[in-house]
Amino acid sequence: MYEKKFQNIEFQKSAPKIKYLPVDQGYEVAFFGRSNAGKSSAINAITNKKNLAKTSKTPGRTAALNIFDIDSERRLVDVPGFGYARVSESTRKDWVDLINEYLKTRECLRGAVLVMDIRHPLKPQDCHFLEWLQQSSLPGHVILTKADKLSLSEQRRMLQKVMQHLPESISITVFSAKDKLGVTEVQKILLDWYCL
Ligand code: GDP
Repeated sequence: MYEKKFQNIEFQKSAPKIKYLPVDQGYEVAFFGRSNAGKSSAINAITNKKNLAKTSKTPGRTAALNIFDIDSERRLVDVPGFGYARVSESTRKDWVDLINEYLKTRECLRGAVLVMDIRHPLKPQDCHFLEWLQQSSLPGHVILTKADKLSLSEQRRMLQKVMQHLPESISITVFSAKDKLGVTEVQKILLDWYCL
């Protein structure tokens, strides 16, 4: 039932620089995650759209903030991971600077979601992001996706491990885009952030 709120979501634009972002007003929620973590699949599952965010195994897609409109006031921002190997050091630095600037200056940002592969959580890039999130007053949520690849006991073990690294203010969901596990839980959190 919550997916109804996302039924009109559509791609608006890619913003390779802050100045190309939509006007800084309304409500924005941003999704972060390393390349191949399962972020696009998670976004598609949460919004109940098959091909909204491109799922691909190809690393090195264009580095840009991908903006999706939910309605005239609300946006979902897909922030590609900068963990891929094939980009140059200066491209990587530009990308890190862009994300830092976005996180620090974007006033309409209401929450941030970090997507991690449940089998490979807490890589340096994830930890860097979590540190930033703790320093900010922004609400945060962690999605541990691809849970279908682990047994229940392994899922619990990884959940405990990750929770030990999170402050109480950051919530967490064990998730599978394949099995639609945890989808409703995350939808509820987003709708709360979007005041929907
Ligand atoms: P992104 O680069 O973070 O956007 O990752 P994608 O969503 O493109 O997913 C990367 C790969 O993981 C693709 O082959 C997906 O089919 C696969 N994948 C994503 N989510 C899941 C999941 O929940 N379960 C399983 N088994 N595979 C998944």
